[in-house]
Formats: sequence, C-alpha cells, structure tokens
Amino acid sequence: MKQFSIPKEVTHVTEKLEKAGFEAFLVGGCVRDLILDKIPKDWDVTTNAKPDEIIALFDKTFYENDFGTVGVVNEKTEDETLKIVEVTPYRTESEYSDNRHPDSVIFSQKIEDDLKRRDFTINSLAYSVSQKTIIDLYDGQKDTKNKLIRTVGKPIDRFTEDGLRILRAIRLSTELSFEIESDTEKAISENSHLLKNISKERIRDEFTKIIMSEKPMDGLLAMKKLGILKYVIPELEKTFGVEQNKAHSYDVWEHLIRSVQLSADKNYPLEVRLSALLHDISKPESRRWGKEQDAWTFYGHEVIGARTARKILTNLKFPSKVIEKAVILVRWHMFFADTEQITLSAVRRMIVNVGQANIWDLMNVRICDRIGTGRPKEDPYRLRKYHAMIEEALRDPVSVGMLKIDGKKIMEITKTNPGPKIGFILHALLEEVLEDPKKNTKEYLENHIKELILLPENELEALGKQGKQIKEEVDEEEIRKIRGKHWVK
Ligand code: ATP
Ligand code: MG
Repeated sequence: MKQFSIPKEVTHVTEKLEKAGFEAFLVGGCVRDLILDKIPKDWDVTTNAKPDEIIALFDKTFYENDFGTVGVVNEKTEDETLKIVEVTPYRTESEYSDNRHPDSVIFSQKIEDDLKRRDFTINSLAYSVSQKTIIDLYDGQKDTKNKLIRTVGKPIDRFTEDGLRILRAIRLSTELSFEIESDTEKAISENSHLLKNISKERIRDEFTKIIMSEKPMDGLLAMKKLGILKYVIPELEKTFGVEQNKAHSYDVWEHLIRSVQLSADKNYPLEVRLSALLHDISKPESRRWGKEQDAWTFYGHEVIGARTARKILTNLKFPSKVIEKAVILVRWHMFFADTEQITLSAVRRMIVNVGQANIWDLMNVRICDRIGTGRPKEDPYRLRKYHAMIEEALRDPVSVGMLKIDGKKIMEITKTNPGPKIGFILHALLEEVLEDPKKNTKEYLENHIKELILLPENELEALGKQGKQIKEEVDEEEIRKIRGKHWVK
C-alpha cells in the first residue's frame, strides 16, 4: 500500500487517543483524498472515546454541536486546514423520520457502525495512522479507482434517510470528475423530491461547492439530467430551449452554463460565478419579437434579472454581502456590451453605479458573457480599451489636492486674504512636489510658503503659471502611460 504523508498536527491527535487506550482512525473525505493524491481540505478523526474523554486529553478544544464532534485546536500552525482537527465518536444512527435528521445520535464502540452510516463508499474508508492500514467495508477503494459514486447500502434507503445526499452525490461527482453509479443515479432521478425537505442552508453549501469547483458546467448538466434544478434554482428550468439571435450559438440555458464555466476557468470569485450563471435569468420573460429588428429583443432583462437573482440568492440564504454584489453585477452586466455608449464619462458614471470595488468584476462578468455566446467577435482591442478607460477613470488626477497643505492653511500661516496669490503659491508648491515627491510634507510646505509669500507678485504669478503647465503635462503623461500599457490610443 502506498505511504500517506500525514501532518504532525493530525498524528498528534491519533497518537494521543491511542496512548490513552482508545481507537483512532482518519475517516471520510480526508482518506478518500489521500488515496486520490489530493491534499485534504480538512482532517476528520473518529474514535471510540466519548466527547468528555476527548476533551480531557487535549489542551484546547471546543464542543458546540449535537453530533459529539470535538474540535481539537492547534494554535501553532499557519495552515488553515490544520488549525482544527475534528474528532467525532463512532456513531450509529437511529431512525430518520423527517428525511434529514437522525432522530437521535447514538455513540457506538464499533468503527463498523460508524462506517455504515456514511453516505458513499468512497467516503466510508477509515485509515489507522499507527497501523498504516485501511478499513474498507464497502469496496470504497475499488470505487475510488473506478471513479464511481455509489451509496453505502441501498440507494433509496440512504436518500430517504437524508435527501441532501442527492446533492452531495452530484457535488462529489462534479468535484472529483467521478460518474454516479447507475443504481445510485436511478434512485436520485426517481426521488429528487426528497430535496424538498432539506434546509436551504445545507443545499446552498453543496451548491456553492459545485459552483466553486473546476467544472460547474458538469454539475449543472447533471442537476438538469437528474431533475433536481427545480429544488435549487427552479428559474433556470425556464431558460431551457429559449432561442436567441444570431450573435448567440446557444439557447439561454447553455449560454448561462457556459458563462459560469468560463468564470471557473478564470478562477473568478463566487459572486462573479453566480452572476455569470444568473445574468440572463430573466431573458425568457423579457423576450419579444422585434418587428423592426426582425429579431428577438430582450429589453430590460437585466433589470428584471437583478430582481430575480436577488430572490434566488435570498431564498438560498446566501450572505447579504454576496447577494448585494452578485445582484449589482447582474443589474449592470449590459454596460460593457453596448459598445457605442462607452465614453470615459459613461465609465465614470458606471463606477458610481456599481462602486469602485465592483467595476473590475463587472468587466469579468462581461468577458464570461461574451465568450459564453459561443461566437465571440474577435475584439481584444476593445477589451484593452475598456481596461485603460477604467484605470483612467479611477485615477486621481494630478492636482493641488495632492498637496499636504491647502489654501486655507496658507492664508492662515501667511496671514493673507483670499486672492489669486494663493492659487499661484499652490501651483508653485505643486511643481516642486512633482519634481521631488519627498517634499510633500506638512513641515516642508509650511516652511516654504513663508519664503514664497515674500516674493513680488509678478514673480509669484510666473511660478504659479509654470506649475500649472507642468501639472497638465504630468497629467497627460500619466494617461499616455495607462493607454500605452494596454496598447490602446
Ligand atoms: P470535502 O472534502 O469537501 O470536505 P467530505 O466528503 O469530507 O468532502 P464533509 O461534508 O466534510 O464532506 O463530510 C465528511 C464526511 O462525513 C464524509 O466524507 C462522509 O463520510 C460523512 N458525511 C457527510 N455528510 C453526510 C451525510 N449527509 N450522510 C452521511 N454521511 C455524511
Ligand atoms: Mg471534509
């Protein structure tokens, strides 16, 4: 058997339990990942010790759930996946009368009981760190090798116990690129309604993992095939077969799943992926035949779409920060598409609409949208141009506002009344600071104005004019640099 490398923070936990006379195994996702040569996202230990016995063994733990799971805290590591090692007593589960929660959690003394309650064969493996052996009661290693998701025991029973397992099967098959074994798959498509009983939070967590995987499109296609979209985002079903115009190769559904796939290929964050998936969600109800255009029109679909996206994401209990951002991106996703109207001042207004923090993500949604049509016009110049325009609009212009002193302070120190002199002084200072930015300190400037104020008015005016001209030159040079960087005029 191949050697697994287990971090010392984890072996510390299993060793300590065994030294105290208990059994201890790594279990679930981490064993599966070790076999697949993937780095586990978290490490779970299972043991015949009870929660109070676990707590007594370690310096720092926490225990705040109904499942007996004790978190063993490692404060010394920087690695997020090792800060907490979860230790759970062997459990056996009683009846599930509501299709989602075991009626009570019963601890057991036998590892076999614990492995039996786990969802899929690939998740039911246990590994003894000290013995270097795997316990494999359900051919989990074989299924891992054959890339198959198969329930432990009869699929229908296991899905009836906990309907979330339906979505977990799809999530795991998406993340791992595994097939769902045919009996398991059949049970899913015949019993998808069991997802109705599952809390939105649990559905959201699995759905988020699908969207954040490398292949969200595969996950969404599997959800469609097995008929479970209606229990997650029913609105997506309305986009099936909704044809668009010649600029598009695909119907709305396929355009959306291709867009979200592109957002994953580019490793964009959750909000961009969600808006890539939802940006055209209201095209079905906005579609009208345009006689003049002799084509379909979708006027206002981004406005209705933003409302629909909010409803969908709120229903799935996403955090409000995620919802707000995704909704903004859906609402304004048409901006960069409308190539005629994009001027620098339009870009400035859009930055006000979406907020500085979101403007680049809006561009990124646009990129996914554009390539997701399947017929992208070759247009890299335009994209580079928009990049340059955003940078230009976000840039602080070169101005006396950059100085660590203002007109009011100058009048106060020099005891001068308002008048053109103050402007001359500011611009004279600006020239010096542009020449040597280190001079932009309160101290230097406040001292220096005492010398400037003594100059005759005409000399001061000349200095000020010179400063103004240099300011304009430097400003233009900055804009030239931005455009040059993006290879646009
Ligand atoms: P990941 O690598 O994404 O964490 P995972 O398989 O570890 O995937 P978790 O949600 O962390 O998923 O669950 C840990 C383990 O607990 C699973 O491997 C499985 O053995 C078991 N498990 C989780 N959820 C269920 C469930 N609904 N029914 C039965 N067993 C479950
Ligand atoms: Mg896990």
